[in-house]
Amino acid sequence: MLDTDAHQGNGTMDIFYGDPRVLFISIHQDPHTLYPGVGFVSETGSGAGEGFTVNIPMPMLADGPLYERAMSEIVHPLIDEFRPGAIIRNGGSDPLYTDTLTNLGLDIDQLSGLIRSVAEHARRNGVPLVDLFLSGYGPYVSEGWLAIVRGALGETMRLEIPERRRYVSPEQYANIEQSTRIMLDELKRRLAPRWRIF
Ligand SMILES: [Zn+2]
Repeated sequence: MLDTDAHQGNGTMDIFYGDPRVLFISIHQDPHTLYPGVGFVSETGSGAGEGFTVNIPMPMLADGPLYERAMSEIVHPLIDEFRPGAIIRNGGSDPLYTDTLTNLGLDIDQLSGLIRSVAEHARRNGVPLVDLFLSGYGPYVSEGWLAIVRGALGETMRLEIPERRRYVSPEQYANIEQSTRIMLDELKRRLAPRWRIF
């Protein structure tokens, strides 16, 4: 299960927290700053399911390149080692920077690129992909959903959004980048006992 919604997948996490048959990965906005307030790197499953829950809390305003880093360093290697029989991806348009409830930084192209990277990885490994899209707030929800569908089909979607991104100074961006680095390194350390790749 791969949950890319801006909100952490707390319901799914609860169901599979002790279950090693399902690898649950959620990439979401830092739960210090958004509902449901769970989904930190320290939450990695329990009992036999230890190491099979993976939370990737992205800092506010994280954009496409930082998501790509999380995907290439954590998500894709984990899928390779776990070798799932199928991938179920879920999540809506709320990682878009135009979303009115959340504070992430993806544009339409980057959202479709995120889903496309999952679809391409699944196809390369001959793993069936089920894609469930849902949720999103404010303008551009339907465009976001279309970007997800296009991405799941292995296509690109470019769309210029008239609303400009919030200005992020180079110093602020360096901080966001560094928080991402620290989070990814900490996550690898915590997953290392269970996964050879780390
Ligand atoms: Zn959401």
